[in-house]
Amino acid sequence: MKVFYSDHFVLPLPEGHRFPMVKYAMLRERVAKAGVCGPEEMRVPLPVSDAEILRSHEESYLRRVVHGTLTEKEMRRIGFPWSERMVERSRRASGGTLGACLAALEEGFAANLAGGTHHAFADRGEGYCVFNDSAIAARAVQAEGLVEQVVVVDTDVHQGNGTAAILGGDPSVFTFSIHGARNFPFRKEESDLDVALPDGADDGEYLDALEGALEKALDRSGAQLAIYLAGADPYEDDRLGRLRVSKEGLAERDRLVLESCRERGIPVAVTMAGGYAREVDDTVDIHFQSIERATTLLDMERDVARG
Ligand SMILES: [Zn+2]
Repeated sequence: MKVFYSDHFVLPLPEGHRFPMVKYAMLRERVAKAGVCGPEEMRVPLPVSDAEILRSHEESYLRRVVHGTLTEKEMRRIGFPWSERMVERSRRASGGTLGACLAALEEGFAANLAGGTHHAFADRGEGYCVFNDSAIAARAVQAEGLVEQVVVVDTDVHQGNGTAAILGGDPSVFTFSIHGARNFPFRKEESDLDVALPDGADDGEYLDALEGALEKALDRSGAQLAIYLAGADPYEDDRLGRLRVSKEGLAERDRLVLESCRERGIPVAVTMAGGYAREVDDTVDIHFQSIERATTLLDMERDVARG
């Protein structure tokens, strides 16, 4: 399975910053070591172009990001200090999602070992998100005429507010978000389908809610491509999650999403989104589970194809 990584485009952070940037390099190393994809399948994504970004973001916002002229307030909202490398990394991370979409359309499954920056709006960034990779990638594959309908399945514990806002008036992309009701963002946007869970929701509650809603989302979307945000932050020991889903529960989530798409013949691009476990190894374990499940399904598909 093709996976796209951009962790070597380092976004410099001040010491003590609470964003776990290290998880991306750890995840790439874990994927490489496990041998779930061949070395030639691990790819560096192209950066997304201005034209690709502008299908989802306002020109004045893009210009301020590129030139480093966002106000202090805008930067605080993003949560990273500005640097040229922040811009490059944001372009590459979105490029990874686009690369994964293109590879998934050819092979069935692919992944971006980053991305899921769903709090980015057309005119602003928020919550560690600069560009909205899902919206950018969906519109790029549509513009190439590869698909008409896309579904975004967002299981990060925080609502995909930027995605919902950018794609709100666009019937060609169905947005589904399952998230914590009382978690950030405190003012939610309206996705095509939202499921808000109470604090402390456990495996049973989480998976029941997901199963029913997922079916609805996939049926209603008529999608020929899914972008799956496999956030690690619904995890019980996540610092920001507020839910109580176990690693096994999250593995079951991956199985549900990936198998439901496969049954319907919908290719899936997996992206990582958030993950703030007290132990960063746990976040990496959870992200790795998602990658591993996708590679297993892809290998099964290839076996079937070979007869
Ligand atoms: Zn999150």
